Amino acid sequence: QLNCYRLSYWLICTVCFLFVVLFVASYGLTDEQKEFQKVAFDFAANEMSPHMAEWDQKEIFPVETMRKAAQLGFGGIYVQPDVGGSGLSRLDTSIIFEALSTGCTSTTAYMSIHNMCVWMIDTFGNKEQREKFCPDLCSMEKFASYCLTEPGSGSDAASLLTSAQRKGDNYILNGSKAFISGGGDTDVYVVMCRTGSKGPKGISCLVVEKGTPGLSFGKKENKVGWNSQPTRAVIFEDCVVPVANRLGEEGQGFNIAMKGLNGGRINIASCSLGAAHASVQLARDHLLVRKQFGDTLSNNQFLQFKLAEMATKLVASRLLVREAATALQENRPSAVSLCSMAKLFATDECFDICNQALQMHGGYGYLKDYAVQQYVRDIRVHQILEGTNEVMRMIISRNLLTEP
Ligand SMILES: Cc1cc2nc3c(=O)[nH]c(=O)nc-3n(C[C@H](O)[C@H](O)[C@H](O)COP(=O)(O)OP(=O)(O)OC[C@H]3O[C@@H](n4cnc5c(N)ncnc54)[C@H](O)[C@@H]3O)c2cc1C
Repeated sequence: QLNCYRLSYWLICTVCFLFVVLFVASYGLTDEQKEFQKVAFDFAANEMSPHMAEWDQKEIFPVETMRKAAQLGFGGIYVQPDVGGSGLSRLDTSIIFEALSTGCTSTTAYMSIHNMCVWMIDTFGNKEQREKFCPDLCSMEKFASYCLTEPGSGSDAASLLTSAQRKGDNYILNGSKAFISGGGDTDVYVVMCRTGSKGPKGISCLVVEKGTPGLSFGKKENKVGWNSQPTRAVIFEDCVVPVANRLGEEGQGFNIAMKGLNGGRINIASCSLGAAHASVQLARDHLLVRKQFGDTLSNNQFLQFKLAEMATKLVASRLLVREAATALQENRPSAVSLCSMAKLFATDECFDICNQALQMHGGYGYLKDYAVQQYVRDIRVHQILEGTNEVMRMIISRNLLTEP
């Protein structure tokens, strides 16, 4: 009778928990948003999740799966429809990336970088550039990489040294980029390079196509996570790029790079939400079946409280990410700070959630047979890239201190 009571108690708890975690994920969304959220969750469950461990272990860049995702409109989510994009909002994009990331965080994170690059070309490119590059990128026939970081310039991105010297109708590029996601396997490189004096105003943005003479790649980096996408150095040695491939005017490149990153930060934070979302569910499932001290772990109040804290942090992170996405969409003055806050808060909190979920698995959590460790490994880097979380604090405090 006691067991029967416990079973029904936990059935009720499970239903309530699913209600809280899943319902809140779609709470307040329009019917249309709920619809494509479901499409993304289904794609994650059917096309990504069954392969995520293999992609990680064999370091497979799942090109065909991403092309399938692009058929659903996920290759250019916030790109305008006239060049093949889906024309959705930043909030819609966040909802989609959160859902996809439950199926494979690393692959979704690459897709988020790809989307950011296509948006940069769509927004800052002229008619010819948009028509030349965007359709193939939206369909993911071609893939894109974002090239800002260099061996000597990371957090201080405006100090970059890759030079682009104008010679007639071309630029001659020399220098190298470090840590480029997709590098070597992608077709289109959105490169920030120096055409003028020191500092941000001397930077321009060029689109460099794979196969351009003088463009080469370093060895594939051996990483802790994000193994379903390659990371390589991108090297330019007298690489000749047409002036026609410059996005915007000379000197606008840093501004273009930062505008791309505002959305990128929401996207990467959304990928962290998805990993945390999946990890909370895995932890709950484990607690419900694992027995110690003669009882399931789910009956331990310490672990119950921990689980409650994890779900609370997840929902708080999601609210902030969605608020930032809406602020960016509406071009509010607070948007840059909110994007930084969302990236800082969500990537830190979601890493803690995934790590706590691993802890709840005990020794099993440390085995690669259990998915939770992959979420932990995959989202650790979200605290580092697209501006480290220390840089996010710099942006937030600088804006606070300089506001009138
Ligand atoms: C897997 C992976 C993929 C990546 N993908 C891309 C990509 O696609 N494109 C791209 O351009 N870049 C990419 N990056 C690079 C990433 O954006 C940089 O690693 C990041 O910006 C930090 O630069 P850094 O590594 O040079 O660290 P550094 O700038 O050397 O910083 C080292 C530490 O010091 C801290 N720090 C630095 N300055 C300050 C300060 N003033 N105050 C307080 N703390 C400070 C930093 O926060 C950090 O913790 C990727 C990196 C990784 C690991």
